[in-house]
Amino acid sequence: MSVGFIYSENLIRELDKNVKIEGRSEMVFSLIKSYGLFENKNLKLINPVKSDDKHLKLFHSQEYIDYLKTCQIEYVESEDDFGIGYDCPYIEKIHDYVSTVAGASLTAAHLINQDMFKYVINWNGGWHHAKRDKASGFCYVNDVVLCIMKLRQKFSRILYIDLDQHHGDGVQEAFEFTNKVLTLSFHKYMPGFFPGTGSLEDIGKGIGKFYSVNVPLKTGIGDKNYVLMFSSIFSKIISVYKPETLVVQCGADSLTGDPIDISNPFNLTLEGYTKCIEMVIHTQLPTVFLGGGGYHLANSSRLWCHLTALIMAEKLKNDIPEHEMFLRYAPDYELCIEAGKVRDKNSLEYLDKTLNTILNNLNNIKID
Ligand SMILES: [Zn+2]
Repeated sequence: MSVGFIYSENLIRELDKNVKIEGRSEMVFSLIKSYGLFENKNLKLINPVKSDDKHLKLFHSQEYIDYLKTCQIEYVESEDDFGIGYDCPYIEKIHDYVSTVAGASLTAAHLINQDMFKYVINWNGGWHHAKRDKASGFCYVNDVVLCIMKLRQKFSRILYIDLDQHHGDGVQEAFEFTNKVLTLSFHKYMPGFFPGTGSLEDIGKGIGKFYSVNVPLKTGIGDKNYVLMFSSIFSKIISVYKPETLVVQCGADSLTGDPIDISNPFNLTLEGYTKCIEMVIHTQLPTVFLGGGGYHLANSSRLWCHLTALIMAEKLKNDIPEHEMFLRYAPDYELCIEAGKVRDKNSLEYLDKTLNTILNNLNNIKID
């Protein structure tokens, strides 16, 4: 069965309006193309449909959507700015941007609902911080929540996995009162680090208690310890929750050397992500794969190109093929990246304690 791959020139143009990741979308697609994957019969390019307001309203408030339509640069930094202006700079025709970004992930969910693909990839999605009526952390629309809401029309147990260096706060907040969506987020948790939520004690509310799972990690975590945590928690969730479908946010800022917080980085390589995604694929469950953060543009492209091939069950050679953006992969022009020389501040004792708490909490999961 082929893999659905969300792609359009318009998507690239719109994503470029987000100054934090300007040029990233094109780089990712160029690299994937350079390996010939666009000509591979197992990858089916899908032109996404732009979202209408009705679909945006599956999560966002009418007031926020109306604001995005009328928002002009001179209004920003007022009292009632819906989050536009601070870490989400004003962008032109912001409502078009939001409808395009949301539409791409809604299209992915639609394809899964229609049983057209087992796996659908949208590397331009994964904007996990946006709130119901607020832009946050470079995220103007929460396409992840919208994607999950769309999947809810068909599926009654959805597992959301978030590999971004930041806590998936917007997604958790949207679903913390329900047991129909279990959110699992691996992220850095330390004083002053955005968004500041996602502690071990943060486990969901009301009927959703125990259905928000947070794995707070310290700086410097490498492949081995990360995969150890992922595999124990993921396999437990699969066995106790028995999700029907998965949404995986593959934010690339957990990679070594990501500049978002260069003095306190994570230290993952492609290998760590690969092991996690292999376990996801092994379940054979229908899955939407999304992007997310990732501020080292060449490394983000390396990761998502590598994962595209992995999901297609293809192997890529390590030497990056010559293409229009080849020079951006200097000095080694290779796909693989080396782990950095940073100390892993996650002691085995800390990881063990964290893991035990999470596994104990998961014993409370009940399915109807
Ligand atoms: Zn992030």
